[in-house]
Amino acid sequence: MKKLGLVSALASFGRHLLAIGVGIRYLFSEPRMTVRYPEYYIVPEEGYRGEVRFHRDKCIGCGLCARICPASAMKMYKLPGEKRMRPGINYQRCIFCGYCVSICPTGALELTQVNDVACYTLDEMVLSPDEFERERVSPAVKEGARPLKTRFDDRRGLKHVPD
Ligand code: SF4
Ligand code: SF4
Repeated sequence: MKKLGLVSALASFGRHLLAIGVGIRYLFSEPRMTVRYPEYYIVPEEGYRGEVRFHRDKCIGCGLCARICPASAMKMYKLPGEKRMRPGINYQRCIFCGYCVSICPTGALELTQVNDVACYTLDEMVLSPDEFERERVSPAVKEGARPLKTRFDDRRGLKHVPD
């Protein structure tokens, strides 16, 4: 019984060594799986679901976006001086499903590919209709990061190449 335990421990140790070896090999071999963000950024593929952008001029205030949202991330606001209610979004909750965009009857919501806007506080993640309307730009793109595309690689599975 003791012998069996020793064999299994040695086998487990061997597997750990193997995993560490694979990690070290990938650390020094090209192409790397990770990129030097924010000097480089990976351009998402078509259909990628990033942040949602609100276009107030197209909104009829129907509230369908808030009703369909499975995460209760979209909320309607009554704004002073406006007859119609307008949506705001809570990125603490949003799961980027895109339902709100699909259901909007007027195309007032648009899925963008922005995925790297960072916030210092939780409150910053809750956008009022006014904030929701503002274009959000990737900070890396703003700083002039060089774009990379992900491509299949026979050896590694994936690699990143200049866009
Ligand atoms: S993308 Fe999905 S989770 Fe996010 S606000 Fe729209 S419906 Fe809600
Ligand atoms: S579904 Fe579209 S039109 Fe209706 S409230 Fe939302 S953004 Fe406005």
